[in-house]
Amino acid sequence: MTTDELKAMVRDVPDFPVEGIIFKDLMPLIGHAEAFRSTIEHLAEWARPRDPDIILGAEARGFIFGGALAYELGCGFVPARKPGKLPWEKVRATYELEYGTDSLEIHADAIGPGARVIVLDDVLATGGTAHAKVELVERLGGEVVGALFVIELTFLDGRERLEGTDVHALISY
Ligand code: AMP
Repeated sequence: MTTDELKAMVRDVPDFPVEGIIFKDLMPLIGHAEAFRSTIEHLAEWARPRDPDIILGAEARGFIFGGALAYELGCGFVPARKPGKLPWEKVRATYELEYGTDSLEIHADAIGPGARVIVLDDVLATGGTAHAKVELVERLGGEVVGALFVIELTFLDGRERLEGTDVHALISY
């Protein structure tokens, strides 16, 4: 499927989770066999030449796309989780969202020095989440070789927050 066809499957949900936000709901696309496979193939096409060792995805939707992408590319998957969820030694970064603030943690031994990492998420909004993931990778000595998204909300200028990182999204608004 083309990215325009995939875009047509994204559902706009006004005023979720708070008033004034138009939530981009990717569930119809994930739930459709051909659309889900095609999304992963498009992501893989951009990611493959960057030769990543690790895909780093945040819960929860980053797990869905990230796990499938890592499998497709034959690399590892590292989950970034909300505080208190991971059992081992952790590093934490706190960041601002389009709505509220949050923190993410990854295991301190999840990314070795020199590991090539692609940070992945469903939506690039303000870039706060992705920036936090980049910070975590760099603190552990890894190299961020790309920041990859299904959707980019260009009017929120998330790319500026990720200056110096190679950014790509399949679908833009
Ligand atoms: P940000 O840190 O501002 O780039 O926000 C990115 C994270 O928040 C992603 O994990 C998205 O899942 C979620 N998010 C932010 N804004 C939206 C939106 N309008 N629709 C869907 N998800 C969003």
